[in-house]
Amino acid sequence: MDLVNLIKDAGVIGAGGAGFPTHAKLTSKAEYILLNGAECEPLLRVDQQLMDLYADEIIKGLEAAGRTIEASKAVIGIKGKHKEVIARMRSRIAALGLASYMEVMELRDSYPAGDEQVLVYELTQRIVPEASIPLKVGCVVINAETALNIFNAMSGKPVTHTYITVAGDIPYPITVKVPVGVPIIDVIRLCGVENIDGYAIIDGGPMMGPLLNGVEGYVTKKSKGYVLLKKEHFLIRKKSVNLDQARVIGRTACEQCRMCTDLCPRYLLGHNMQPHKVMRALSYNIEDIKELQIAQLCCECNACELFSCPANLHPKSVNIIYKKKLAEQGIKYQPLQIDFQTRSAREYRLIPSKRLVAKIGLTAFDVPAPMIQIEFRPSYIEIGLRQHIGAPAIPVVAVGDEVKEGQMIGRIPDNSLGAAVHASLAGTVMEVKDNSIVIKVG
Ligand code: SF4
Ligand code: SF4
Repeated sequence: MDLVNLIKDAGVIGAGGAGFPTHAKLTSKAEYILLNGAECEPLLRVDQQLMDLYADEIIKGLEAAGRTIEASKAVIGIKGKHKEVIARMRSRIAALGLASYMEVMELRDSYPAGDEQVLVYELTQRIVPEASIPLKVGCVVINAETALNIFNAMSGKPVTHTYITVAGDIPYPITVKVPVGVPIIDVIRLCGVENIDGYAIIDGGPMMGPLLNGVEGYVTKKSKGYVLLKKEHFLIRKKSVNLDQARVIGRTACEQCRMCTDLCPRYLLGHNMQPHKVMRALSYNIEDIKELQIAQLCCECNACELFSCPANLHPKSVNIIYKKKLAEQGIKYQPLQIDFQTRSAREYRLIPSKRLVAKIGLTAFDVPAPMIQIEFRPSYIEIGLRQHIGAPAIPVVAVGDEVKEGQMIGRIPDNSLGAAVHASLAGTVMEVKDNSIVIKVG
């Protein structure tokens, strides 16, 4: 079987973002294959440790993906501050005889260095056009955990586990390998907090992750981290503001200073994303659709909302409000140009990670989260049928079936974009729901 089909059968999806099915990404040809090892979300410590622990596997997975798309060059982006990881990756690339094909480039410690379009620019000096994807400029981007999953797929191993950092205002920040489908609470319990009643939990990184509504959910292939903070923490109060509140506050308080725009990573790449204009449209009830379409250029990195705005407003949330309105009306942003130049001030306006961490009140919690080994034996696991972009997987098991670890339990619907799902632990199928399959473990 060729690599694309192995990856398809293994259910590999983008582990670092929206969960785009990886096999679909690798059907195109591109000049560059890029490895996103930036891990720019504060407190998360997954990729930097995976690249240290599984350097050979990640390098081989990246190489295989690169050869599949006929890339002439593979480039790995890692923040320069991770000196040991960089040294290890470089020495393993040389030892594996791949130095003429693959290189490691050092990234600056700024936010959002891991935004796909920022990464493409930093590694290749190419600018992905507005409302487009890296392929448009000859690049395919995968992240470190995805490359590891590609390597595993090469030997027939499906994606059954994910790596998660548990961090925040807790005694023991850790990073751990977790079977997909394990109850989130089982992972949270490892943090050393006896009673989590006074805490709120961010699902993912502190910048882009939403607040969890509760701990009743289950780990997915995309789960990357849980950040626990006291409910009164600035970040939790800020993330608790709903879209309607964000709209009302923004209408009354925006002073049009345009700091949100001047520091916006997409604006700095030369795109027309200008959040202050969207805020202006909100304040003055401007219904000029042309002006508002720019909201669709927002990557929701949250830099404007959590760092740039001196009035502590919510430009990203307002962008989301307008994105929804535009989608309802079927309006899509129409780029006015195809060639882009970065703004001349970009070099001076990158957001230093340390300052960002201080601004969002996380300096005290910006500590290592070492990888530890834990065997999870939950009573039940619940495997989501739609952990990815595309159509949900179709169950191929029925209630009462015995399943083995790694067995496919949901397949991609015919002629659709999607990803297969697998049992992460052996057991008996107890329930087949619309969106998930429940397995009694053991
Ligand atoms: S930074 Fe804040 S106050 Fe300034 S224009 Fe943007 S939303 Fe308005
Ligand atoms: S969230 Fe804010 S800073 Fe980030 S891309 Fe959107 S408008 Fe720009």
